Amino acid sequence: MESTNKKEIFDALSGSPRNVVVVSHTSPDGDALGSALAMQSLLIGLGHCATVILPDSFPDYYAWLPGIDEAIIAEEYPEKVKTVIDAADLQIIVDMNALKRAQQLESLLKAVDVQRILIDHHIFPEDIFDLTFSDITASSTSELVYEFIDEFRPDLMNLSMAECIYTGIVTDTGNFFHGNLTARTFNITAKLIEKGVDVIRINQLVYNTFSENRLRLLGYSISERMRVLPDKKSAYIFLTADDLKRFGHTEGDTEGIVNYGLSLKGIHISVLFLEKPEFIKLSLRSEGDINVNLIASKYFNGGGHKNASGAHFYGSMEEAINVLLKALDEL
Ligand code: 5GP
Ligand code: MN
Repeated sequence: MESTNKKEIFDALSGSPRNVVVVSHTSPDGDALGSALAMQSLLIGLGHCATVILPDSFPDYYAWLPGIDEAIIAEEYPEKVKTVIDAADLQIIVDMNALKRAQQLESLLKAVDVQRILIDHHIFPEDIFDLTFSDITASSTSELVYEFIDEFRPDLMNLSMAECIYTGIVTDTGNFFHGNLTARTFNITAKLIEKGVDVIRINQLVYNTFSENRLRLLGYSISERMRVLPDKKSAYIFLTADDLKRFGHTEGDTEGIVNYGLSLKGIHISVLFLEKPEFIKLSLRSEGDINVNLIASKYFNGGGHKNASGAHFYGSMEEAINVLLKALDEL
C-alpha cells in the first residue's frame, strides 16, 4: 500500500520560504529522530525555516545525532512550543500515522489551520493530512526521507543527513534483523556508506553504550520477569514501577528488551509491559504472519505495524496481562 503525493509535497517545498515545524511521536526512537532531523536539514537546504518539535525527550544514545540539540522538547518548553507551532505555516509529521501519537501536541497542531504533510510507514495513516507520502513496505520513515531527497534534490544530501537516515534504518530494522528488510533497504544503506557514514561508529554509539544499570535491568527482566507460554507460542515480560526504580531506569533503558522473547525457539509473539506513572506501556513484537497490530488495536487501543506495535493500557499490570492472555486465546 502506498499513498504518495511525493511530487505535490516537493512542489509545496519549492516555492517561497516557509516556516515549518517537523513533528514526530512521543518516546521518539531512532527513526522518529533520524527522519525528522534529515527532513529539517532538507528544508533548511531549500531555504525554509524549520524547527523539530518532539513531545518528550529521547534516550541519551541519540544525543550525538547531528542537529538534535536544536530540537525543542514540548514537555520541557511547553510555551515555546506553542509559540513556534502558532507561527508555522506548514506542519510536516514524520514516523507516525495519527496526530494522537504526538500526545499533547495534537491539540496544538490541530488548533492552527495550516497545510499538513505526512511522511510515514505505519499502516492506516489518518485521513487528516493535505498531502501524504506513506509506504508501509518501507523499512523506516528514514528510508522514505532518503528516497524523497534522492528523487528531488540529491545535491542537498550531506553526511549529517546520511547519518540521521542510517540511524533511522538501523534502529527500525533492529540492526538489520526484522521488519521490511528488502534490497531497497540495503541499496539505500550502501549509498549512505558511499556518502561517508561510518556505520561501525554509529552502531557502537547506539548499541554499545549501555549503562551498567541498563544491562542489569535487561538481565533481571529475562531471569525474573519473563513468563513463557509455549502453548500460545508467546512470551511476556513485565516490569513494575519498583523494578524500574530499583535499576535507576532512564529513558531508553527498556528499548529492545521485548525482542528477547522472540529469540526463544518456538516463540513467535513477545510482549513487554512497563508500569509507568499514568498507564501500562505495552510493546508487542511478532514473527512472520502473526499480526500483533490486531492485538494492539483491538484490545489496547494502540497500533503500529504487523510485527511491531505498541499501546497504552489504563489499569493495573495484572489487568493488562489478563487482557493479553484473553487476546492470545482468541487469536
Ligand atoms: P514500541 O513498542 O517500540 O513503543 O512501538 C512499536 C511500534 O508501535 C512503533 O512503530 C510505534 O510507532 C507504534 N506504537 C507504539 N505505541 C503506540 C501507541 O500507543 N499507539 C499506536 N497507534 N502506535 C504505537
Ligand atoms: Mn519508524
